Amino acid sequence: MNLADSGSLAAVLNSRGYRPVESENDADLIIFNTCSVREKAEERVYGRLGELSSLKKNGTQKRFAVVGCMAQRLGERLLQRAPYVDFVLGPDRMFDLPRYIEESNGSAFINTEFGHENIGDLTPVRDTPFAAYVTISRGCNQYCTYCIVPYVRGEERSYPAEKILQQINSLCADGVKEITLLGQNVNSYQDNGLDFSALLSEIAKKTAVRRIRFMTSHPKDLSDRLIETMANGPRMMSHLHLPLQSGSDRILDKMGREYTYGHYRSLVEKLRATAPDISVTTDLIVGFPSETEEEYQMTLKAVEEIQFDSAFMFRYSPREGTKAAQYNDDIPDPEKIERLTGLINLQKEVSLIKNRNEIGKIWSVLIDGFSRRSNAVLKGKTEGNKTILINGDACLIGAIKNIKVTSADSWTLHGELVD
Ligand code: SF4
Repeated sequence: MNLADSGSLAAVLNSRGYRPVESENDADLIIFNTCSVREKAEERVYGRLGELSSLKKNGTQKRFAVVGCMAQRLGERLLQRAPYVDFVLGPDRMFDLPRYIEESNGSAFINTEFGHENIGDLTPVRDTPFAAYVTISRGCNQYCTYCIVPYVRGEERSYPAEKILQQINSLCADGVKEITLLGQNVNSYQDNGLDFSALLSEIAKKTAVRRIRFMTSHPKDLSDRLIETMANGPRMMSHLHLPLQSGSDRILDKMGREYTYGHYRSLVEKLRATAPDISVTTDLIVGFPSETEEEYQMTLKAVEEIQFDSAFMFRYSPREGTKAAQYNDDIPDPEKIERLTGLINLQKEVSLIKNRNEIGKIWSVLIDGFSRRSNAVLKGKTEGNKTILINGDACLIGAIKNIKVTSADSWTLHGELVD
């Protein structure tokens, strides 16, 4: 979501004549688009701000903007630790930055109001010409007890389907072949009676986009209709990111997740029965307040039973203002780290097994650039959202090709062109 917002902010700034530069030294304005989900992310922002503040102290005219969730959460308090910041703008206000710059009178400007975000008609700046994020909703009404998102991104608002279709058509005209629809909980999308699976059908019917992905889905809203659309809908990629968070029903209840492990497992079983090759990825948290060793073992058991293709794994970090922040954060850090390490090691083994099962399969792959390590190797994403590396000519970049998987490790597949 932050990457998508950064792309939209870049588009706003470009339209007003601003241009990106290679180095902070050459910049007149330095923008931090921030995340509040974990304390570590906020501390890194303060660290980088501290490093760069010397550029301002040297007498140059640089300005600093902190935008996004951390700006929303802290507002004026952010200036206590970083008094040299000029603009503090929440996620809905960041797109007005050019106007605030023009109106600025030299003192710090803070705006954390929600609503009226004006990004619907913008084509965000993208990292790759062939794939794009499309935000379909903002905010969240779920209030999971550990999560700061509803407080910093506000109530859930779905964008009109018509605007989404227009944006996708204009992206396609610009060469985009793959879109990822974004929302904190895409499954609860609603526009005048049109739900998320109906939106997917509309996109397949009324746009020329070749590949459709989405994230993130909340298990409590994953309907049979959506499972059916994912399995049989045209141009749907075979990947579902479905956060589980814990294998213990007591912890899930304390997290306010509104499903049990049994329900989650039955959803995955239904999905795999309908679409056997689908890849399923997840988010997991260890060390939630009062999580016992036995409950942690339930999360490990869930990983073994469900066999996720991959997972984002975190140790619990209390966020001020959330319900869980009032619970006793009673798992000591070394214990949280040990639990996380155990979980990561297990998931690594499972990912290796899952990836090796891919050997011999042929997937349609959007080749989107060179591998990080070599310009002689191309990279792309399979339909299941796995990174695959292939030897091939640079002219293949941007093409969708059939690739046979020839080998695999825990993180990456290797393959060869079959057509
Ligand atoms: S559904 Fe996701 S974004 Fe919303 S409160 Fe829960 S974890 Fe946070």
